[in-house]
Amino acid sequence: MSYVMPPFPVPSLPVEGSDARFPVRRIFCVGRNYEEHAREMGADTREPPFFFTKPADALVTGNAAIPYPPATQDLHHEAELVVAMRAGGVDIAPEAALDLIWGYAPGNDLTRRDLQAAAKAARRPWDMGKAFDASAPCGTLVPVSVCGHISRARITCTVDGRVTQDADIADMIWDVPHIIAHLSGLVRLEPGDLIFTGTPAGVGPVARGQTVRVEIAGLGAVETKVG
Ligand code: MN
Repeated sequence: MSYVMPPFPVPSLPVEGSDARFPVRRIFCVGRNYEEHAREMGADTREPPFFFTKPADALVTGNAAIPYPPATQDLHHEAELVVAMRAGGVDIAPEAALDLIWGYAPGNDLTRRDLQAAAKAARRPWDMGKAFDASAPCGTLVPVSVCGHISRARITCTVDGRVTQDADIADMIWDVPHIIAHLSGLVRLEPGDLIFTGTPAGVGPVARGQTVRVEIAGLGAVETKVG
């Protein structure tokens, strides 16, 4: 088989303790998965999880700096636990879900909040608020064999050293096994899929020239200088 032009590189994440990288297939994200954040966004906290996506090539790795994204005046950070799948399936039971996870990383679901708010108000898709270039900074992936499964851990976000988000993974409305169970009822999950699992309260702006850092205890940090 040949291509009419050179095929594109496979997006990937660096892996703790290895030179080999984790190939990334798709990026799924959970909307509103911490009660306090759901409340700050004016949402009902009892509804089932919902999902949106980012393109895999929106990943930013190696703590690379990114340009301030176009078409927004209100870039927001969202500190999140990222789950990397080693295997997939459909209609996965929560009890079977953890066994399918390859590893975990800290991530930042960068959001053009003004575009997202306009899309919500007009009942239009969120894509241009969420799925823009360089919208998915992600830290080094830590294998389950090293970090175990993450059901509680402090998650923090700082902007130029000032703490904006400070919560615990245990505060999720839907834990990781239930996220995987719900998502696999909507799509067939595949090896290489990433899931950004939602953000706690305290989301806010990142201005040009500022550095945003997401840290999860036991997983390290991802740092991103913007603009
Ligand atoms: Mn998010």
